[in-house]
Amino acid sequence: MIDRLREALKRFNPCDSCLGRAFGYGLTGLENRERGRAIKLYLGMRAHLEGEEETLELLARSGLEEAAAVLDDPPEPEPCGVCRGVLDKVDEFAEVVACELKDLEFRGFVVGSRWPEEIRKAEKELWETLGVEGEPIKREFNREVGKRVEHLLDVRADPRNPDIEVVFDFRPSLEDPKFEVHVRPIYVRGRYLKLRRGIPQTKWPCPRCRGAGCPNCDFTGKLYTESVEELIGMVLKDAFLAESHKFHAAGREDIDVRMLGNGRPFVMELLYPKRRNVDLKEIEGEINRKVGDDVQVVGLEYGDPEDVGKVKDLSERSRKRYRAWVKFGKPVPEDKLREVLKGLERSVIEQRTPRRVLHRRADKVRRKRVHEAKLIEYDGDRAVIEFLCDPGLYVKELISGDAGRTRPSLAELVEVEAECERLDVIEFLDEGGDRS
Ligand SMILES: [Zn+2]
Ligand SMILES: [Zn+2]
Repeated sequence: MIDRLREALKRFNPCDSCLGRAFGYGLTGLENRERGRAIKLYLGMRAHLEGEEETLELLARSGLEEAAAVLDDPPEPEPCGVCRGVLDKVDEFAEVVACELKDLEFRGFVVGSRWPEEIRKAEKELWETLGVEGEPIKREFNREVGKRVEHLLDVRADPRNPDIEVVFDFRPSLEDPKFEVHVRPIYVRGRYLKLRRGIPQTKWPCPRCRGAGCPNCDFTGKLYTESVEELIGMVLKDAFLAESHKFHAAGREDIDVRMLGNGRPFVMELLYPKRRNVDLKEIEGEINRKVGDDVQVVGLEYGDPEDVGKVKDLSERSRKRYRAWVKFGKPVPEDKLREVLKGLERSVIEQRTPRRVLHRRADKVRRKRVHEAKLIEYDGDRAVIEFLCDPGLYVKELISGDAGRTRPSLAELVEVEAECERLDVIEFLDEGGDRS
């Protein structure tokens, strides 16, 4: 082993950490640099007692001052041939991390690193020379920087459940690594109500400039100045000091349709939040105070990434109850209307993709069921009707027939033209409601 160590010193000039790391699984409660120094001291004492000047010179070159002190003409220390001096600078790297994280609110964090192939190769060759299997540099670096950051910021490293992940990438440069901070998004779930018509659910980029800004959109890049997403998002974004937000909802209503009743489930994803602990009851009140004439939220609570999929899933499973204001081409007798609505209940509608959404949806036939159709108000050529429908049934076309693309339709059955003048979603049934 002594010969192997001498050979390793000659070929790799390892620093204390890199030499100690080769024996990193030997004993516990030691830092690798302590292991490495212990080995070098032992070699140095032996060499001094036996007058092996060459070994003392190798040790002095690798930075062992005690060896240099007993030589008449000691060599200058040279950088480690494995880590190229990176492990001497873990304190500096920890300072960089602490500086980046000091304004962020978080619980656990984790340090990661990426290394160039040449370093991993040198490390492997050192181990082969010594005939051992050591601890990879990545693990030592991540742990040592992590420990120092814990101390500097009085926080906890938590690799299983980190809010923050910092990554050093040494592949482009060992002196000046790329440094990334990944902050786990915050998920807030709840339900929203849209009380005013004319607000799109999500940002609607100007079709002419695609969001860049042009005279068509008054240089806003948007076709509508507001959206449900933005009205809720701006308050949440400010509260969490987030960089941006992403909105996920259980389907969407048309821009001219209100969303009332118990509201539609949504999840707001807040990206790069600086704060993580916000009283959501307070935020709920703030949203409803600030934008409550247009949009309200209920039941805000903290969620997780799985909620995004769940909420999308919900849109395909959830029946909706609608209230529709219908205008007929000429008066329809009340008896006839009631009879037709009774016939519509439980019936299956064959609906080809409505013409108005053909530009963004595939042209196909959907088979959807109307579960309830109730006459609420009647006035000759006008009526208010409530429909309970399968998810994905287009109610405006259920009323008009969409030139024969939706069959049967209210217009077809009463044999009079019919048009949906106004529409509200008045209930969102999470689990589909009655399945019989
Ligand atoms: Zn080293
Ligand atoms: Zn534009």
